[in-house]
Parts: sequence; C-alpha cells; structure tokens
Amino acid sequence: MIVRRGWSLKSAKVIKIVTDKERGETIDLFTVFPWLKRFFVQRRLHAFVRTVGDIVFTFIILSGLFGPQEPDRNCALFLSWGVWWPTVVLSWFFLGRMWCGFCPFPGLGRVFQRYGLALNLPLPRLLQKYGVYWSVVLLALIIWVEESTNIKYSPMGTSLLILSIMLGATICAILFPKQAWCRYLCPMGRIIGVAATLAITEFRPDHEKCRQCKTFACKRGKDNYPGCPVYLGAFNVRNNLYCLVCGHCMKACELDSPRLNLRSPFKELILNKGRFITCSHIIPFLIGSQIARYVFDNHIFRAVPCGDSTLCAAVDFSVLLVLFFIFCHLTIRLGSFIFGITEDELFGKFSPMVPVFVPLSFGGELALRLKYTLKEAPNFLPTVGRQFGIHALEQLAFHMPPLLIRLTEFTAVTVSLMASYHILSKFVKEEFPGMVSNVRFRTLQVMIYLVFCLYVLLIFYS
Ligand code: SF4
Ligand code: SF4
Ligand code: SF4
Repeated sequence: MIVRRGWSLKSAKVIKIVTDKERGETIDLFTVFPWLKRFFVQRRLHAFVRTVGDIVFTFIILSGLFGPQEPDRNCALFLSWGVWWPTVVLSWFFLGRMWCGFCPFPGLGRVFQRYGLALNLPLPRLLQKYGVYWSVVLLALIIWVEESTNIKYSPMGTSLLILSIMLGATICAILFPKQAWCRYLCPMGRIIGVAATLAITEFRPDHEKCRQCKTFACKRGKDNYPGCPVYLGAFNVRNNLYCLVCGHCMKACELDSPRLNLRSPFKELILNKGRFITCSHIIPFLIGSQIARYVFDNHIFRAVPCGDSTLCAAVDFSVLLVLFFIFCHLTIRLGSFIFGITEDELFGKFSPMVPVFVPLSFGGELALRLKYTLKEAPNFLPTVGRQFGIHALEQLAFHMPPLLIRLTEFTAVTVSLMASYHILSKFVKEEFPGMVSNVRFRTLQVMIYLVFCLYVLLIFYS
C-alpha cells in the first residue's frame, strides 16, 4: 500500500507487488557459458589475476614511495589514476562488484589470518550498525584529499593513499574474523556497491534450492572451503550492495545454488526504490562532489583562485564540497517531495529520486575519471621512458584534442541522463500508475535536465 503526502492510508491505492518473474526473466550466465562457472569454481584464473594485481600494486606503491617525485617522471600516477580507477569505475556497469573478488587490499590481512596472527574478536555492534556511515565519511575524506591536495599528481601521496586503505583492511583482519573492512568500512567498496546496483549482472542464489539446504555452507564454510568473507552467504544476497562476487560460496554449496545472472540494469534500482540508507547518502554526495570537482578545476567558475597555496585550496574545495552536497541533497529531497510518494506500508519509507539520480551520479564519475585518463594518456609512454631511461619512448607522445575529451565526458553524462529519464518514467508509468500527475512528472524531468545542463556547462567551459 502506498502512502502519499496528504492521503490517508485508507484512501491510498493498492499497487500490485511485482515479482521478479513478472518483471522479465534474467538469464543465468552459468548455464549459457559453463566456462564462466568453472572460472569461479576452479579459481585458477582468480589466482592468476590476483597475482598480476598484487605485482602491479606493489610496483605502484614502491614507485610512489621510492621513485622520482616529478609527475612527468613516474608512471605509477597514470597506472593508478588513469588506468586502474577508471577501469574499476567502468567495470561497475558490466561486472557489478566483481572487482572486489580480485582486489589486493585484503591480501595481507588474509596472510595474518592464515598464520593464526589474528585476534578473532566478535564484531562490535557499533561497527555493524554505524560502519556504513564511517565508510561514507572515509569516501568523502578520500575525495577531499584527492582534490584539495592534488594527490593525482603526487606519486608519494598516491602510494600513501593506497597503503592507508590496505592498512585499514589489514588492521580489521587482525582484529576481526574474515573481511570486516570489506563489509562495513571500505570507502571504495561502498561506492562500488552502490554503483553495482546499476550493473547488468547480479550474483544470486536459487532460492528454491536454498529452501532445502541443511548446511548453509555458503556462509559457514565447509571442509577446506572458507565461508563467505563478508558474513553473507549466497542465500542472503538480495542486492548488489554487499556481495563481493568472489565466488567462494560456490565451492562450498552442495546444491549448486549460486548463479550469475544477466539482467536489466534498471531492475534493482526500480525494485529497491532508494530504500537503502547507503544510497541516500552516497548519491547526493557523489553528484555534489563531482560538481565541486569540476568547479574547483575550473578557473572561470572558481570564486577564489588559490595559486600555490595548499591551505587556501583545501579551504576552497571544502567550501565547494559542502555547498554542492547540500545543494544536491536538497534537490533530491525536493524531487521526492514533488514525486509525492515516499512511503509504502509493506517496505516502509523510500526515496524515489535516489535511484533516478544513480545513473547521473555514476555517469558524472566516469566522465571525470575519463577526463584524467584522456588528458594524461599522451604522456604515459614518454613518462615510462623518463623513469627507466628509455629515451626512444619520448617520441611516442601524441596529441589528444581537448574537444575529444569533452565529447567523451558529454557522452557519459548524456547516456546517464537518458537512463535517469527511463527510471523516472518507469516509476511514474508502471510502478505508481495514475498516482503522479503529468505536471509533477514534467517538473521532475526538467529538474533532472537542469542538473544535466550543469554538468554540460562545466564540461564545455573548463
Ligand atoms: S571492499 Fe574495498 S578492500 Fe574489500 S575487496 Fe572491495 S575494494 Fe577491496
Ligand atoms: S547457497 Fe547453497 S549452501 Fe547456501 S543456503 Fe543455498 S543451497 Fe545452502
Ligand atoms: S555470497 Fe558468495 S560471492 Fe558473495 S561475497 Fe559471499 S562468498 Fe563471495
């Protein structure tokens, strides 16, 4: 039953509870591509990719700490900010949270646990209850440090940032069993999880099989197979927010329940309707931080040009970040107010404009990351040459037309705009038919369009 502002519960309309089947089938990728299932179960390729990742990250850290500190003589910067992070951002749409299955950050903690050098303390309730807020705070801190200290051009700073995330994961692994950091605190895991709600794949159990299960080995583990590292177990996976898609549960499960489905990227957003507290904080923060980052990068829009002063830059960016976060938070709240329906008797309060803005928030993030990649790519090989004394690579610099960079950013936010419109239209026409007037619908479309125009303005006038 839906509650609308000013409507009594009695007069509220009853909407049909739409099941997964009615929404359209998903495709089980393990059935269509059996090699994909072998990939998860045998784990040889996982081990290979992880080893390559460990080597690359060790190089980035060592190169940042002990290599040249001039940005044009240290290729670790482009490998981290121009290759690794944009690849992870791009992977969200296709693979959801699968990056977490290969991530090197929890590796050291796992070694401590394997050799019995961990305390295995019970998980504090405070961590379980408020960890999500801390992860959002840590994410804000990373974005703040990234922009106000220009860490993207500091090899040492980049290494320290990576080491600090590894340190968090390792300390948690020494204190608590499994990967408490990944479940509750990791800022990257949080942003990846929220972005994964827009992915075209999902890791889910076959609930029919799980109903017959007596062991729940996917969560507890079995023989030599570890249980779920984030205390979930496949039977508990109902969204893309927390499951790492690591596949550990597949070996433990005797009933062959876990599967990887291909789905509509809008399915989860429409189903969840912005009910999760994580999303309602991260989405306005991400959009606000993107606008702040664009404005901060742009001498035309910035009120206070800071020159070389780090303190001035930090204060300047902090003010922009806070202002635009409040602006986006209020915009989303105003949008929900205009939408008019914010509570459901079955699943409680929800925030319809959060899922509507999810595509724009990740399109904006992709645009910003690709901007760095395309801007710095022409100098990557010459930088490698300067770092390792291979002078021939100096000749391989090339020119990247600024218009091409802007058009790439524009394309990312334009596709996102269309996705946002699609979700809004699904809500109005299919989820709440006849309950949102045409005037409200058009007003919300204009509101989304204005946010999009802000992105376009900042992209083309930077
Ligand atoms: S949650 Fe963070 S540390 Fe854990 S696997 Fe994902 S990115 Fe890595
Ligand atoms: S996924 Fe497998 S082990 Fe886990 S509850 Fe379902 S059937 Fe049992
Ligand atoms: S449910 Fe399975 S795939 Fe997901 S995190 Fe747990 S073990 Fe990994």
